[in-house]
Amino acid sequence: MLTKIITEDNIQESKRLINRSRHIVIVTHTAPDGDALGSSLGLWHFLSEFGKDVKVIVPDDYPSFYKWLPGSNKIVIADRQQKYSCGLILDADLIFCLDFNEPHRIANLETCVMESKAKKILIDHHLDPDRFCELTISHPEMSSTAELVFRFVCRMGMFEYINVFCAECIYTGMMTDTGAFTFNSNRPDIFFIISELLQIGIDKDAIYSRVYNQYSAERVRLQGYVLHEKMNLYKKYHTSLITLSFEEHQRFNIQKGDTEGFVNIPLTIRDVLFSAFIREDKNIVKISLRSKGDFPCNRFASEVYGGGGHLNASGGEFYGSFDEAVRKFEEGLEKYKNLLKPVNQNY
Ligand code: 5GP
Ligand code: MN
Repeated sequence: MLTKIITEDNIQESKRLINRSRHIVIVTHTAPDGDALGSSLGLWHFLSEFGKDVKVIVPDDYPSFYKWLPGSNKIVIADRQQKYSCGLILDADLIFCLDFNEPHRIANLETCVMESKAKKILIDHHLDPDRFCELTISHPEMSSTAELVFRFVCRMGMFEYINVFCAECIYTGMMTDTGAFTFNSNRPDIFFIISELLQIGIDKDAIYSRVYNQYSAERVRLQGYVLHEKMNLYKKYHTSLITLSFEEHQRFNIQKGDTEGFVNIPLTIRDVLFSAFIREDKNIVKISLRSKGDFPCNRFASEVYGGGGHLNASGGEFYGSFDEAVRKFEEGLEKYKNLLKPVNQNY
């Protein structure tokens, strides 16, 4: 049995809103990751199976290794169909906001979502959500938004509507947000849910392979270059920093998703407990942070770059020069030096 997490009021009110809605839209954050897509498509499968007219709209495209997700060919990508996307959002009577906690995270969809008269339900696991929805189902202690979608459907008494496609999407979200169950995944409930998904018929080993064993040869070579030439260790701070300039992006013909996962690799070094990846894009510098144990990446992201995220996985954006972004990172290390000590021998 699962412990009850979502309040009874939220469940009853959601049920009522779903039942009376004719057009439902699901939106998720920009640069959608496995949890954004898995939770959105999982909910999409459930609502479709339940007989609802429902669309998933994402702000922009997502990596090719998620294109196998059942239903992904039905996703509307807003930056390719801005008018159509906005029309759907304005016509909807119910909008689910999944896997983000602040409206600006949905980028080009923000204005239409905020203007839409539709009722809104947030389902998310990021800290401190803005209260921009009628219902806020926010549980930062959860592994993933996908886990919350599973709980949401079960609590509404609709477990029977979770088909194998829905289950595959939910599993993908849970797997990718926990690094294939290597962090943020100690709660026994997670494994209860996995066993239910296995009963429904998912092939979890195949899902792992479809997500993680899909790199191009160029990507694997780029990984070699990045680790050999671009990984800087700050031994005093038990920290690693990988940087990639815009010029390098062009030189290596880097495609969307090619750099995903690089930031995790330095954490495999024994004494490294904090890892950063700073990537220069055209008009923006993107920062990814990861940590072992209890080093708070989200506090660092928020204080240094105005970003956010989870304890062990956070990010931010910086609108300035690449060198400045790196300098800010180094200043941040000095500020956080008291927390950058390998005190926790477990890690
Ligand atoms: P990633 O490093 O994979 O881009 O992001 C890791 C996590 O950090 C995301 O799941 C998200 O929660 C958070 N995150 C990434 N970029 C930003 C950002 O610009 N702002 C905020 N608030 N959170 C971010
Ligand atoms: Mn998530």
